[in-house]
Amino acid sequence: MRTESPQIQNFIDGQFTEPTGGKYLDNIEPATGKPYSHLADSDARDVDAAAAAAEKAFVDWSKKPAVERSKLLLRVADLIERDLEKLARAESVDTGKPLSLARTLDIPRAASNFRFFATAILHTESEAHITDNVAFNYTLRQPRGIAGLISPWNLPLYLLSWKIAPAIAVGNTAIAKPSELTPMTAYMLCEIVREAGLPSGVLNVVHGTGPNVGAVITAHSKINTISFTGGTVTGRKVAEACAPLFKKVSLELGGKNPNIVFADANLDAAIAGSLRSSFANQGQICLCGSRVFVERSAYKDFVAHFIEKASQLKMGDPLDEKTDQGAIASKTQLEKIKFYVDLAQKEGGTVALGGKAPELINERCHDGYFFQPTVITGLPVSCRTNREEIFGPVVTVTPFDSEEEVIKYANDCDYGLASSVWTQNLTRAHRVAEQINTGTVWVNCWLVRDLRVPFGGMKQSGVGREGGEEALRFFTEPKNVCIAK
Ligand code: NAP
Repeated sequence: MRTESPQIQNFIDGQFTEPTGGKYLDNIEPATGKPYSHLADSDARDVDAAAAAAEKAFVDWSKKPAVERSKLLLRVADLIERDLEKLARAESVDTGKPLSLARTLDIPRAASNFRFFATAILHTESEAHITDNVAFNYTLRQPRGIAGLISPWNLPLYLLSWKIAPAIAVGNTAIAKPSELTPMTAYMLCEIVREAGLPSGVLNVVHGTGPNVGAVITAHSKINTISFTGGTVTGRKVAEACAPLFKKVSLELGGKNPNIVFADANLDAAIAGSLRSSFANQGQICLCGSRVFVERSAYKDFVAHFIEKASQLKMGDPLDEKTDQGAIASKTQLEKIKFYVDLAQKEGGTVALGGKAPELINERCHDGYFFQPTVITGLPVSCRTNREEIFGPVVTVTPFDSEEEVIKYANDCDYGLASSVWTQNLTRAHRVAEQINTGTVWVNCWLVRDLRVPFGGMKQSGVGREGGEEALRFFTEPKNVCIAK
């Protein structure tokens, strides 16, 4: 298998192909700030070629028995696990995330995504409805055709496989577009699906920019299903492109997630959990809890211990086994983080920890994109820093006095993706969970994921749900057959 290649090509109709225009983009390693490979800078002609291949492949793939599709997807899962180390290293180099995180989270989860949907399609049920003595109805759920799958840079293989696996498991064919910032593991996945024996054209990957590839996919007449994960601003463009064409669309967008700590919580667990939810993957997980609210009687204690623990996180070369905090994924993202830390201070906040780039990590990482874990206190709940997504290792901590008040704070936001509540009072946990407007509420935990549960956001965090039955339904078309009695 290729691990690092100077040229990341498209994968169309089972073949690695040059972009039609012959152009390539630099692929930069965030830890060094230097290009280390190149990716296809594709355009509409490449998307057309992928759509033609996917259309042709759909004829047989959509009719293949579920058990045969299942076997192929299970083989893909096995091969991802076989190549765990190579994939984890590639993901770490491509994104700047610690190798240890890619090895324990990203790549195992990509294998689980394929395995989960490979087996889910063997356990589905069909609905039937009897209309008195008149008729008998049953529902067919059929593959829709070609799915366009667009994903971001923060969890590249994890999120792309979360779309590819259900889309093709139910009999669709797919055209995937990874982020231009992190194309490597999608490229490696193509070698895996080829080795697994997935028929040509079932999965096609077209690399390139959002405008030249992503927007072409969303507007393409042959691609009738779009599953998008990314920022809310881009999500709006995707929605606008799909609406007049009546495409089926799923949007998983940004977040500004509240992390609520009541004074009756197990504070050690709340601090450990908050540390992860604040800084895992350098805060670049859509589910990170970037707004921490702590009940006033526990506030001082929490802040002191939280800062102490956060200051002990080891920043370093992502490839160093001991590193907890790696690099920020891109220079643009690093600039955005710096902008918000400046803004927080202008809005009256105090930088209680971090707030700048670290000391030189090592010679290799001299020009890399690093930023310290940062804790900001003293901000009003309604300021921009507390309302806009930063997507980096920056959290605000704010005290609250009552349950009603913190529920208001949590919901005072355009986003509604996820939240965490830390309390030992079970009645309160249920009561608060019911009132928070987020697609997921974690109680006394964070990022515990069961692939069967509905996953997605409210408000500007998205439209629709992924996961389990929701994904199987999204990628199929229900058809009622009504037979007279
Ligand atoms: P982004 O800029 O919105 O990009 C996401 C994907 O869309 C990339 O592949 C991008 O290509 C492509 N794209 C850009 N313009 C497009 C257009 N006009 N039409 C179609 N596709 C287009 O997001 P990002 O910066 O990569 O990712 C960070 C964001 O993702 C954050 O807001 C985060 O919260 C969100 N996110 C959400 C979830 C969730 O499950 N809700 C999960 C992870 C991340 P290029 O890379 O080439 O620009």
